[in-house]
Amino acid sequence: GNLIFNGELITRSAVKIDVEDRGYQFGDGVYEVIRIYNGQLFASEMHLKRLFESAKFIRIKVPFTLEELKAKLEALIVKDGLTFGIVYMQLTRGASSRNHAFPTEEVEPVFIAYTKEMPYAGEVKPGVKALLTDDMRWLRCNIKSLNLLGNILAKQEAVEAGCAEAVLHRDGIVTEGSSSNVSIIVDGTLKTHPANNLILNGITRRVMLQLCQANGIPVVEEAFSIADMLAADEVLYTSTGVEVTPIVSIDGKIINDGQTGPITRQLQVYFREEIERQCGR
Ligand code: PMP
Repeated sequence: GNLIFNGELITRSAVKIDVEDRGYQFGDGVYEVIRIYNGQLFASEMHLKRLFESAKFIRIKVPFTLEELKAKLEALIVKDGLTFGIVYMQLTRGASSRNHAFPTEEVEPVFIAYTKEMPYAGEVKPGVKALLTDDMRWLRCNIKSLNLLGNILAKQEAVEAGCAEAVLHRDGIVTEGSSSNVSIIVDGTLKTHPANNLILNGITRRVMLQLCQANGIPVVEEAFSIADMLAADEVLYTSTGVEVTPIVSIDGKIINDGQTGPITRQLQVYFREEIERQCGR
């Protein structure tokens, strides 16, 4: 266990987090997860930019430049000897006597990053079951905030029902998954919720949309209803962890006869090719 702790590369046991860290007490911070294939960061530019944007949204200053942070992450990956995995990072507003309002200027934000092994399962990912549940979250879901109560309660409900993911909806309009973005395929067109305040604009979502454009798959970024989703030809979900994975059952209703649809399958191939393009094979 090595960690980046406020810019230093140290061992996990040497890290000291204050009990009054605002991340711990209020979830007052932001985070990011980047996938590593072949020892290389995937889509790091987009992920790091999103971290800076999320931090800016809640008025925390990242104590490094994007380039400095990337170099530190690369050093951590080398130190850990990691080939396939993720790097998790988070930035909190720092430690200060508990009080809702921001602390004074001198209080420094607290940054940590560490890696975790995660094998690459390959391009074919079998379809999963999902359940539908109310999107109970706040109205700034575009911020990758540490506050994940709405997400974890939904995910737990899914897991207890034997499902891999919870698909969230607001009054019958599908927003996203508890830790993923959801898309449907109707008559050859990919439809996904627009990147507004109601969803996290996933990096996997963005890469997939680029791959659709490059390969002539029509895309519409428009909200769709539960009924649209249940009647769709294909349903899929995307995230750093699951890449492009089909959803073949929702609340027990079977999609595409329980099979991976042809466009989802094609997107899995394009996604694997993009991984190889960025990170080598
Ligand atoms: N939406 C939510 C709510 C998420 O937590 C995640 C994953 N962190 C995503 C979407 C997918 O984002 P990404 O593709 O950048 O991992």
